[in-house]
Amino acid sequence: MSGRPPVEIDTSRPHPARMYDWYLGGKDNYPVDEAMGRQMLALDPRVPVMARVNRAFMHRSTRWLAQNGVRQFLDIGTGIPTEPNLHQIAQEVAPDARVVYCDNDPIVLAHAAALLRGTPEGRTEYLQADVRDPGAVMEGARKVLDFDRPVALSLIALLHFVSDADGAHDLVRRLTAELPSGSYLVVTHATADFTPEESKAATEKLKAAGVTLALRSREEFTRFFDGFDLVAPGVEVPHQWHPELGEPVPGQDDGVIPGYGAVARKV
Ligand code: SAH
Repeated sequence: MSGRPPVEIDTSRPHPARMYDWYLGGKDNYPVDEAMGRQMLALDPRVPVMARVNRAFMHRSTRWLAQNGVRQFLDIGTGIPTEPNLHQIAQEVAPDARVVYCDNDPIVLAHAAALLRGTPEGRTEYLQADVRDPGAVMEGARKVLDFDRPVALSLIALLHFVSDADGAHDLVRRLTAELPSGSYLVVTHATADFTPEESKAATEKLKAAGVTLALRSREEFTRFFDGFDLVAPGVEVPHQWHPELGEPVPGQDDGVIPGYGAVARKV
């Protein structure tokens, strides 16, 4: 047995990590998550496709980064393990890649063992921390990653759970300030730009259940990359970012995917 205290799972209200797991067809979710997931589906039946498109963006962007020489990854808002996980993609290209995962939801901690089965040449670690406490995140990450060498910081489907009141843009600036030039920032984010009415209804339903959804416009999304050089093709809907690096998700072209994705290099 590990010395960790028992993990407390709050099953009285929905949690983003568990709803996302439900959209992906996983089994690490509870009736409250499924109930809220079904309400989201009633507003937009394409939510499971969006989740898969987002996950596929993670696969392709990680592959691109590893193929372009990145050997260190810090992934905040990791989610419940879903194969392949980020370290499996990175270490398939570069077995010596080091990966630090971080999430604030105890259910991810409870399943973290599945995130830690990496290559013997590389390192794979899990850190329980909140992105709103960047000092704690970076202190933990430094134990595994060498901040004198480039790091890819990925915030994939995370920042739309971080409000402006919590200083989302400032948090990203504080996290990336610690990384050397040649590091990368990877972000996907949901937006209300394409489906304003459904988005408003979804935001309200989630708020009533205690979940913050901070949808951002293209301009607000792009501001996360201030001081960075966007990698071509720049800000895109996620499935149109380097589609050649993976398989298309069934249904991705049948309607809108209301999100943005981009990868950028620190100057
Ligand atoms: N990045 C994964 C999972 C996205 S779901 C993927 O794209 O497949 C969003 C994740 O962010 C959830 O696991 C949730 O627990 C986590 N999260 C939400 N708010 C957070 C915060 N303040 N700090 C750290 N993680 C957070």
